[in-house]
Amino acid sequence: MRNPKWHRDEIILALDLYSRLDPGNIHSSNPDIQELSFLLNRLPIHDVRPDEAKFRNPNGVSLKLSNFLAIDDTYHGKGMQSYSQLDEKVFKEFESDTERLHKLAKRIRSVSEDLNLANQLYLIEEDTDDSIEVNEGAVIYKLHKFRERDTKIIKKKKEREFMRLGKLPCEACLFDFFQKYGELGYKYIECHHRTPLSEISISTKTTLTDLALVCSNCHRMLHRRVDELSVERLKVLLAV
Ligand SMILES: [Zn+2]
Ligand SMILES: [Zn+2]
Repeated sequence: MRNPKWHRDEIILALDLYSRLDPGNIHSSNPDIQELSFLLNRLPIHDVRPDEAKFRNPNGVSLKLSNFLAIDDTYHGKGMQSYSQLDEKVFKEFESDTERLHKLAKRIRSVSEDLNLANQLYLIEEDTDDSIEVNEGAVIYKLHKFRERDTKIIKKKKEREFMRLGKLPCEACLFDFFQKYGELGYKYIECHHRTPLSEISISTKTTLTDLALVCSNCHRMLHRRVDELSVERLKVLLAV
């Protein structure tokens, strides 16, 4: 029974630690490695762990860091050659941008360190569209989805817009579920959180203006380019 492969978010966290460690300190009794092992175990990504005892244990984490040694041109020793294509891809992505690496790692960490939040994010499913690669990472993307599923504020948002307009059209394409589906579509619309992923944080509370009401198609399209596409830009795109 093998544990799931390392996810990009996990590799980012490991690479972040790698960039701060001296090669001689890559071993399972290093407290930093043990801390990362602990954190990876509560990262809301893999909920199926066939080999729970070995899942991202300190040995596994130091092996991952030794894999980076093998990829790293500036290291003249051998390292562990058993790295994956994704390890190499992520390594190259951040090779000359450690600042961005630290920033991303810090944000992914902040979500996982909030145990209550992390547990709720486990329940949010991954997209089936695997052509999407979210720059900010899957954990932050899950935080976006979690925020826009806050039923209390969504209800308020929909009620207020319905009072104002007498209907709930999509803010990007104007599609109206009631008009198309009749009774079945009455008061149906989805909510999209406007805050860019690079700015969403665990401490900010969602307000009514943070949310946009969009149809399911537009919502999907917004998520396909979730790093960059705003509701306003989609609106412009559709008008062409
Ligand atoms: Zn729409
Ligand atoms: Zn959304």
